[in-house]
Amino acid sequence: MSRIVTRFAPSPTGFLHVGGARTAIFSWLLARSRNGRFLLRIEDTDRERSTPEATQAILDGMTWLGLDWDGEIFYQSERAHIHNAAVDRMLETGQAYWCECSPEEVEAMREKARGEGRKPKYDGRCRERGLGPGPGRVVRLKAPQDGATSFDDMVKGPISIANEEMDDLILRRSDGSPTYNLAVVVDDAEMGVTHVLRGEDHVSNTPRQIQIYRALGLPVPRFGHVPMILGPDKKKLSKRHGATSVFDYHHQGILPEAMVNYLARLGWSCGDQEIFSKDDLVRLFTTENLGSSAAVFDMDKLLWLNAHYIKEAAPERLADLLPPFFEAQGMPAPGREALLTVIPHYQTRAKTLVEFAASSAFFFVDDAALVYDPAAVAKFLTADAKARLAELRDLFAALPNFSEESLDTALNAYVTATDTSFKVIAQPLRIAVTGRTQSPGLHQTLAALGREKSLARIDRALTL
Ligand code: GLU
Repeated sequence: MSRIVTRFAPSPTGFLHVGGARTAIFSWLLARSRNGRFLLRIEDTDRERSTPEATQAILDGMTWLGLDWDGEIFYQSERAHIHNAAVDRMLETGQAYWCECSPEEVEAMREKARGEGRKPKYDGRCRERGLGPGPGRVVRLKAPQDGATSFDDMVKGPISIANEEMDDLILRRSDGSPTYNLAVVVDDAEMGVTHVLRGEDHVSNTPRQIQIYRALGLPVPRFGHVPMILGPDKKKLSKRHGATSVFDYHHQGILPEAMVNYLARLGWSCGDQEIFSKDDLVRLFTTENLGSSAAVFDMDKLLWLNAHYIKEAAPERLADLLPPFFEAQGMPAPGREALLTVIPHYQTRAKTLVEFAASSAFFFVDDAALVYDPAAVAKFLTADAKARLAELRDLFAALPNFSEESLDTALNAYVTATDTSFKVIAQPLRIAVTGRTQSPGLHQTLAALGREKSLARIDRALTL
C-alpha cells in the first residue's frame, strides 16, 4: 500500500482557532500513526482577509503544539497558474465550458426555480453553446446531471447527493481567478493527498470537489468531516465562551501536551482512557474512533489535564517556561536557582502556569515589598499571635540548620512545649512569611525561603 498523505489547509484570516487546531491534530495523527506524510498548505487566496501575521500565528500555534509538517509550506496564492492550467485542461476535454450569464441572470434563474418549488440553481443555459473566452465570462464545470455523487466519510459514514441537486460550479471567475473548490482539488491532487480530514462546515463542498476530481480524471482521496466544537451552551464555540485561539491558552499557562491531549480527546476516544501522551496518541489513533457528534469544550477538564502535565513535567522545563508568567504579573523573572527550589512545592498544586506564578510570587519579591493581605493580617496577626511569632523568630534564629526536617521538628517541639496547637501558630506564621493564607506546607515554605528571608519577614509582620 502506498504511503498516506494528509494535510492541514488553514485560511490565514485570524489566529489558530481551537477547532482548526483539533483538525490539524487529527490530520497530523493520521499521518504519523501510519508512517505517512503531513503537509501544510496556507489557503491565502482571499487577499483582503489573509495577512502575514495570521499565517505566522498559525505557524506559531502549530509549533507550540508540536505539530511538525513535512517538506515546504505550500501557499495557495502562489499556485493560481497551476489551478488555471487545470481549468484549461477541462475546457479542452469538454469537462468545462464558458458561460456568459451575469450574476443577475443567474439570480433570476434561482428565483424562478424557487417559485416553481425546485432547488435554486444555475440552469445550464450555456452548457452547449460552445462559447469561447470573453469579458465577464466565467468557466463552469460541466457536471453530471443524473446519478449521484457518493463518498464514504471517515467520520460520518456513507453520504450521497443527487447530481441534479448541484449547480454547474464556477471554476474560474470572470476576473480570471480560480475558485476555492477548484483550487483545493488541484492542490490536494498535486500534493498527493490521500486523506482529507477537515471541519464539518466543508461537508457540502465535498461532492462538488469529487465532481472536479472526476472531471480531471484524478484519484479521489478519502474524506472525513469532524463535528464542530460547542460551548457549554451547546452553541458553536466562539469568543463569547472565552478564548478560542490556541495561543490564548498558551498565555493562560496551559502546557502544549495538555492542549493536544485535550483536543484529541474532544471528538476521538480510545476506551475510557483520558491521559494520552503524544506517543500514545500516535500509537493508538485510528479514524474509526472519531466521534460523529459535536463535542462541548470543557475548561475544567482541560485544567485537570494541565494540572496532571504540570505535575509530570521536569522541573528544569518548568523553570524554562515560567519566567514570562512572572513578568506578566509585573515582577522581574526569578533567578533559575530560586525557581528550581520552589517548583517542586507548586508542581503538585498549580492548574496553570499563571496560577503557578501568582501563588508562588511571594517567594521571589523583596522582603520589604511583600504585600500582606489586609484581611488576613486583621484576622490572624493578633497581639497574642505576635507574641508567639516573636518566640518562633528566636527559635528559628537559633536552629542549627534551616532544613525542612529541622523546621518540622522545631515547630512540633514548640507546639508541645508551649501546650498549644499547630493550628494556632500556623496561619500567623504563614501570613508573616507569605502575606497570604495559602501556601505549601509551612516547614517547606520556610525552608525554601531560607532563614534570612523568613526572619526578615517575621520582623516586618511584627510591626504591622
Ligand atoms: N481553508 C479551509 C478552512 O480554513 C479548509 C479547506 C480544507 O480543509 O479543505 O476552512
